Amino acid sequence: MLLFRLLVVLVLAALVRADVRNCACDAAKPETLAAHECGLCREAENQPASPAVFFLKDINPRKPNRWLALPRPHAHSLPEMSSQARLELWTAAIAKAKSLWGDDWGLAVNGDERRTQCHAHVHIGKVLDTAEAENPAFVVVDGPAEIPVPKHATAFWIHAVGNKLHVHANGEQVTEFVLMR
Ligand SMILES: [Zn+2]
Ligand SMILES: [Zn+2]
Ligand SMILES: [Zn+2]
Repeated sequence: MLLFRLLVVLVLAALVRADVRNCACDAAKPETLAAHECGLCREAENQPASPAVFFLKDINPRKPNRWLALPRPHAHSLPEMSSQARLELWTAAIAKAKSLWGDDWGLAVNGDERRTQCHAHVHIGKVLDTAEAENPAFVVVDGPAEIPVPKHATAFWIHAVGNKLHVHANGEQVTEFVLMR
């Protein structure tokens, strides 16, 4: 019984810690940005006030081919950004992704329950050859202004097919594994 209670406490702690949208950090108070999950907020503070989007190489040594695109203003999730700010983020991220991977570019956003960083960010990488066949659920849009943000902040990924974009979403929490590490 004691063990069971301990397990419940551990699971609850993990769940609480997992939803980084609730992070109470405030960029106006640098001392509140010290936590691990606020690392990308600190990176944003190190950037000049403009442009509105910046890029970082993924520091995870197991993901040597990955980059991140991030909004310079602090936002804890894509839905809380204005549609104009999201359009700027998508446009810049797609341009960077194309410059790195040509037609094989891809963008992936993990779900809010599984993100480990509170600052909104988009993963940039090369779409794996197997990804399309393994992820048959997608919508087709004409361009970045039409990219929908999934309800409930679940994960999604985006790539180009011809002159259209595919937005793949199936309610999962992690999609970045469609991109080459
Ligand atoms: Zn934070
Ligand atoms: Zn931030
Ligand atoms: Zn596709």
